[in-house]
Amino acid sequence: MPHPAWKDDLVRIVGPRGYLDHPEDLRLYEYDGGVDKARPESVVFPRSSEEVSAIARTATRHGVPVVGRGAGTGLSGGAIPSQGGIMVGFSRMNRILEIDLANERAVVEPGVVNLDLSMAVDAAGYFYAPDPSSQRACTIGGNVAENAGGPHTLAYGVTTNHVFALEAVLPDGTIVQTGAWWPDTPGYDLTGLLTGSEGTMALVTKAVVRLMRKPETVKTMLAIYDTEDDCATTVSEITARAITPAALEMLDGTMLKMVEAAVHAGYPLDAAGVLLIELEGLKEAVEEQAEQVRLACLQCRAREVREAKSEAERQLLWKGRKNAFGAIGRVSPFFYVHDGVVPRTKIAPTLRLIGGVSSNSGLTIGNIFHAGDGHMHPIILFDARRAGDIDKAQKAGFDILEYCIQAGGSITGEHGIGMEKVHLMSRQYAAESLDMMRRIKELFDPARLFNPGKLLPGGRGCAEIRQPPLVPGTPVY
Ligand SMILES: Cc1cc2nc3c(=O)[nH]c(=O)nc-3n(C[C@H](O)[C@H](O)[C@H](O)COP(=O)(O)OP(=O)(O)OC[C@H]3O[C@@H](n4cnc5c(N)ncnc54)[C@H](O)[C@@H]3O)c2cc1C
Repeated sequence: MPHPAWKDDLVRIVGPRGYLDHPEDLRLYEYDGGVDKARPESVVFPRSSEEVSAIARTATRHGVPVVGRGAGTGLSGGAIPSQGGIMVGFSRMNRILEIDLANERAVVEPGVVNLDLSMAVDAAGYFYAPDPSSQRACTIGGNVAENAGGPHTLAYGVTTNHVFALEAVLPDGTIVQTGAWWPDTPGYDLTGLLTGSEGTMALVTKAVVRLMRKPETVKTMLAIYDTEDDCATTVSEITARAITPAALEMLDGTMLKMVEAAVHAGYPLDAAGVLLIELEGLKEAVEEQAEQVRLACLQCRAREVREAKSEAERQLLWKGRKNAFGAIGRVSPFFYVHDGVVPRTKIAPTLRLIGGVSSNSGLTIGNIFHAGDGHMHPIILFDARRAGDIDKAQKAGFDILEYCIQAGGSITGEHGIGMEKVHLMSRQYAAESLDMMRRIKELFDPARLFNPGKLLPGGRGCAEIRQPPLVPGTPVY
């Protein structure tokens, strides 16, 4: 197979050990955590911002697409090179450059693994708050690109609330700095614009992020229910009592059985649903809130409310939640993790809708999600080897997301649009809003080489864009 025309330039930039184009190597980079697949023509592993800049210049000169890749845990096909080209892997740019505890900031390269940052400051009593369930593997660069959330973002906010400044490389190779170490910088919020832009405008090469002090006390509770409705209703009952738990997660009966069989976290096998609730803060306040939470759960007919009695018990409860996806893999060879948002007051009807979609499609759907934020994660089990199953799974996902939009929510809470949901953007946004986004992208990337085919639907005037949003006039920002 002939080598790509840009190979010599790239090898000069990153060295022969930082460059891959053998088909057997490239195969490893055609997946992420989602369902789509496409192979890059070259993969490069830069070690510095200057090397990333030189790669961008080379790509632009050759008119070839560029796709960034962190750990490849994305669930919407963001890191899939759907139009081939050059993949920039950030695994060698994985240094924590500075930890400034007095100012509660860290400066990191994009390939730093999320959990490694918290571990680096743990002994000093600090942590990095955004904690995707994939935090043992996913990178800060990927988190910034996806504006990732996680169980604890209910109280602390998502990635954008913890990123103060970025260094990023534009398609023409320019290295730009946005923001500063203090919040609310003058001028346009370019840090906010790039956070969540899914690698379509710039490649992030450094980030200044917030470190937070670990709370004095953490209490983790498990509320167990005989009906999904009661479990779901408790979510708004807790927040109505003016309590914002650090985390408020729900697992339905289907998920409980799968997770318990694999993880042995002590979850009940006969329940219709559980809430995993975590409270953090000063000891007295947490005790008071825990009592209020217990009363809210009992008022909504919880049959039992347990409290983790030790750090080991607490870790075990979280182990079940954080290892759930692995547990599903033991039961089903293929599964489709969906991601939609509804107001937390509409979780119960959404679960009923999902139950109906499951019966109609004949596919098992489990639910494990960030209930406090209304971030639904229906997990659709299917078997790609069975004719028609993929189509059924995709249709089931589409029906659920349509319902989310109608319920006043969104087609994604945290996994991003990627290539998976690009066709749904016109269901969420009016044509004018999409056009504005496209014009902003083109300011950064006039040749449309950075992560093409992601986030924004096709060209100007395509059918997708002319489609009206599902709920005309829905305020979407
Ligand atoms: C088991 C599991 C649990 C998960 N739980 C959560 C969760 O709780 N919350 C949540 O939000 N997500 C979750 N995810 C999804 C995923 O982990 C996040 O989207 C994460 O932010 C992706 O990080 P990554 O390093 O793997 O990025 P990748 O998958 O490699 O890339 C994701 C996107 O970021 C872009 N990108 C990567 N690096 C850069 C860079 N330096 N500059 C510019 N663009 C870049 C890529 O091009 C792509 O568009 C989960 C995934 C799995 C598999």
